[in-house]
Amino acid sequence: MTKRAHNFCAGPAALPTAVLEKAQAEMLNWQDRGVSVMEMSHRHASFMELAAQCEANLRELMQIPANYKVIFMQGGATAQFSLLPMNLLAGKTQADYIDTGIWSTKAIKAMAPYGSANIIASSQTGEYLTVPQQHELNISPDSAFVHYCPNETIGGLAFDYIPDTGDVPLIADMSSVILSEPIDVSKFAMIYAGAQKNIGPAGITLLIVRDDLLGKSRFDTPPIFDYQKQWENDSMLNTPPTYSWYLASLVFEWLLANGGLEAMAKVNHAKAAALYAAIDNSQLYSNKVNKANRSIMNVTFTLADEALNSTFLQEAEANDLLNLKGHRSVGGMRASIYNAVPMESIQALISFMQDFEARYWNK
Ligand SMILES: *Cc1c(COP(=O)(O)O)cnc(C)c1O
Repeated sequence: MTKRAHNFCAGPAALPTAVLEKAQAEMLNWQDRGVSVMEMSHRHASFMELAAQCEANLRELMQIPANYKVIFMQGGATAQFSLLPMNLLAGKTQADYIDTGIWSTKAIKAMAPYGSANIIASSQTGEYLTVPQQHELNISPDSAFVHYCPNETIGGLAFDYIPDTGDVPLIADMSSVILSEPIDVSKFAMIYAGAQKNIGPAGITLLIVRDDLLGKSRFDTPPIFDYQKQWENDSMLNTPPTYSWYLASLVFEWLLANGGLEAMAKVNHAKAAALYAAIDNSQLYSNKVNKANRSIMNVTFTLADEALNSTFLQEAEANDLLNLKGHRSVGGMRASIYNAVPMESIQALISFMQDFEARYWNK
């Protein structure tokens, strides 16, 4: 059997082995056409069929209501939070943002050329260990939208509720949490997510947009960045990243074949609970995030003695436990445990952590 390491990369992240095997088997000859899926026109009927099935499967998985459009674009989540103001300000001059960490902050900065970003609530003073509560959200009726990040990938901080923003459209950057458990799409005006965490390889970005938000872009928005125009053209205004799209479609099939998002949620909560319990029960490791706001996808932890960090990472890697180093901006460790990371990888990590602690700390 081919070697597969325990991959805790934050992104581009692990993909399900079964998906990669299917892609491998179909690599040279897709649908018996004698060409790879990446060697054919995106306008070919069979690729259009793939795209349509891909959307249908996603709609089934996420129970997306009919008045929401599914759009695929390029440029990652970063392009999307940069394009939001162009598409959604609709003549207004401000939007509201909730600040819970690095990705929220980047979205806030991207607003600057277009209008004011009101930071209506922030958990910065609490070192991003908790999220603002509903009653702290001072939403302005003059704002074009409210933006937030339900799961801060770098801090390992997650909302335990969906903000109620009344009539002001709620926009969520779900890059690192989409498809990890069922969510009520109707509570959002728009959801977007880069693919490389829970959807597929980098290169494609998913947008789920309520239809009343379309057609409101600024006059100078290039068509390629315009949600309405992309939707009208089946997300194929120019050549889309066809191979990423194909792999995303295989991931959606894999999710459906494995019980959908309810089944994923069960496994994901069990994985996270096991890892947090191991951290909480140790003397060496700790996680300071408010318990209700601990991410089930990105588990951060620090070692009581930072001098042990590099040994920890070296030994982890020697045990095929990869990519545990925390983001450069926060340090410490981070295990990203997306859908494709199985419970056995969590167990291998926990055993390693316990063994490491016994050898270096509780000697
Ligand atoms: C990874 C990530 C991004 C950035 O994605 P890119 O595709 O690199 O632009 C943005 N927001 C969140 C929450 C992320 O996890």
